[in-house]
Amino acid sequence: MSAETGGVAELKFRDPRRARELTAALARLVEELHRAPVTLMHVCGTHEQAIARFGLRTSLPPGLRVIMGPGCPVCVTDLGEVDEGVALALQGVRIATYGDMVKLPGSSKSLADAQAEGAQIDVVYSATQAVELARVTDEPVVFFASGFETTAVATAAILLSRPPANFSVLSAHKYVPPAMEAVACLPETRVEGFLAAGHAAVITGYGLFEDFARRHRTPVVVAGFEPLDILAALVRLLEMIRDREYGAANAYPRCVTREGNRRAQESLWRVFEAADGPWRGIGVIPGGNLQLRKEWAAMDARRRFRIDVSGLQQAAQSELSRRCLCGKIMVGLVEPTDCPLFGRQCLPESPVGACMVSSEGTCRIWYQYGGRPDLGGTA
Ligand code: SF4
Repeated sequence: MSAETGGVAELKFRDPRRARELTAALARLVEELHRAPVTLMHVCGTHEQAIARFGLRTSLPPGLRVIMGPGCPVCVTDLGEVDEGVALALQGVRIATYGDMVKLPGSSKSLADAQAEGAQIDVVYSATQAVELARVTDEPVVFFASGFETTAVATAAILLSRPPANFSVLSAHKYVPPAMEAVACLPETRVEGFLAAGHAAVITGYGLFEDFARRHRTPVVVAGFEPLDILAALVRLLEMIRDREYGAANAYPRCVTREGNRRAQESLWRVFEAADGPWRGIGVIPGGNLQLRKEWAAMDARRRFRIDVSGLQQAAQSELSRRCLCGKIMVGLVEPTDCPLFGRQCLPESPVGACMVSSEGTCRIWYQYGGRPDLGGTA
């Protein structure tokens, strides 16, 4: 695409006149529903970044709340998973991982702490880069892999491409649909509809959500990441709630299909299987973790190394960490500004909880775009 065409595309998806039409439609729909507030949840840090960056909440009608759910992969990486990475690093194993994972606190230490004690931690931008590291050394390299379906597919592709024998994976990959189930099953949930992440749906297809929507009588709309994509998806979601249309819809048709990318799905499930596993601050989610199938044991750091986390888990959690509301934020029960530590004791440069660590964390995004602690415009 030429720069010129890209510019036109950008204008098309950021047209203020169309944005005003869509926000007027949102206001009409909320009024038609005769109840407020209506709470909708998205499950994607990229959506939250776009909503905050473009100030979309300031243009939503007062009766509409759009909140972020468990959509930040770093935030939901469990303490125990960080402990495993830290323990391996302190045992002298070289760890390659994404940048946001380095500062993420474990039970008593982060990878950054381990690095300060002499451990070898390499920040990588992709699974491919982690393999490249393994190719230029004889020492074992463990890729501490985090992320949802999209990054798990990239990890799967690497394992399918015959990486060197000194390479293995410590999987902290998570699968989002079971987390949506967990939110929908909470007795106190107020969520009436979900926006699903467009990039994950490119792989899974939007048809994946049809059964969920029917069972929970909660519609799901797949959304892209431009401001108008998000507003149009919200309009569609409210229409479906109004019409009691409990299904899945696609508001990102330029990238997403009902079936998704079959080849990518096949790679994903050849390498991974869904397993019950802990999500930080939320608890064990049935089928929420992506673990390597036993056929990949030779590449599975959990089977290849003896990982002893006991020393790391003896330290008591700090008083401040115990007050962190990250888990409740990720299931939509409270917002960052409900946390007394937000923007005071908890800051991006000295995070108390996981939601302030990652650029995809709700607290970090709210802090970055809203300052502390009063965020005008959040409905
Ligand atoms: S502001 Fe910090 S302590 Fe409070 S919920 Fe967010 S991450 Fe946790």
